[in-house]
Amino acid sequence: MRIIVVSKRHGNTRSINLGGWARAVLSVCLVGIPVGLAAVAYKFISDRDNELLDTHSREAWVQTLDQQEQNIDTARRETEKKLAALTLRVSELQARLVRLDALGERLTTMAKLDNGEFDFSSPPAVGGPEAQSAPNEVESPSLIDMLDTLAAQIDDRQQQLDTLEALLANRKLQNDVFLAGRPIRKGWMSSRYGRRTDPFTGGADWHQGVDFAAKEDSDIVAVASGVVTWADDRYQYGKMIEINHGNGFVTRYGHCKSLLVKPGDIVKKGQTIGLVGSTGRSTGPHVHFEVHKNGRVVDPASYIHRASR
Ligand SMILES: [Zn+2]
Repeated sequence: MRIIVVSKRHGNTRSINLGGWARAVLSVCLVGIPVGLAAVAYKFISDRDNELLDTHSREAWVQTLDQQEQNIDTARRETEKKLAALTLRVSELQARLVRLDALGERLTTMAKLDNGEFDFSSPPAVGGPEAQSAPNEVESPSLIDMLDTLAAQIDDRQQQLDTLEALLANRKLQNDVFLAGRPIRKGWMSSRYGRRTDPFTGGADWHQGVDFAAKEDSDIVAVASGVVTWADDRYQYGKMIEINHGNGFVTRYGHCKSLLVKPGDIVKKGQTIGLVGSTGRSTGPHVHFEVHKNGRVVDPASYIHRASR
């Protein structure tokens, strides 16, 4: 390559012959400088773009943060609401447990159950601790499930206890109508049930009841609770009281001096229903006591002697 340099002042010309290396250096200068400038310009522009992007993202971040703060506020309010609801629920459950404890204690007393079977004096393990830790774990969704389970368990328990109470009440009632003991407070058995010599004729006789000799005007008592179905004169019985105890059981108390109840009266076990006398076919103050089971007269001995529960 040859480069010709012309001088303005002198009009002289000089030619310079460039070798391979010089050509290479010149080429680099001619091509490299614009490329470098372009690169610098590009970098400048892209820096500005980055700056613009940064501005945009900053605004976006501020918005996002605002949104998040709002979300946190909403969440907090909802959590507070949930907490209030849960606190209410826990206190409801606690109140129900207190009631159940009271019921359980009553049943334990009624049923005379061993403490090992039911211990209502201490809080039930199923509810206490979980319920108390509830407010601290309010955001755990399983807490609500747990409380629901607890409530279901309490429902279950309450149902069981209600059933048990009904059963026990029924049993208590059955104990009350349970025939047991003697129809007098003081006295002795003067004549048994069954075959005997007739005290009036001296002939063979079948005694349908048991006689209890007792002091005149002493108490005649009901051997079980029931409804008075007769309280009046009844032929050979004299003044007689009949009580229907249900379950097919009827008792009769004969030869009374006076009657203290009237038909339709509800009497309790052990209640005084009349006074000992000698009315009707009788040789002296005593109570003629009969037990009827399903319409047939039976020997009262087994009822008299069985333990009064
Ligand atoms: Zn008799």
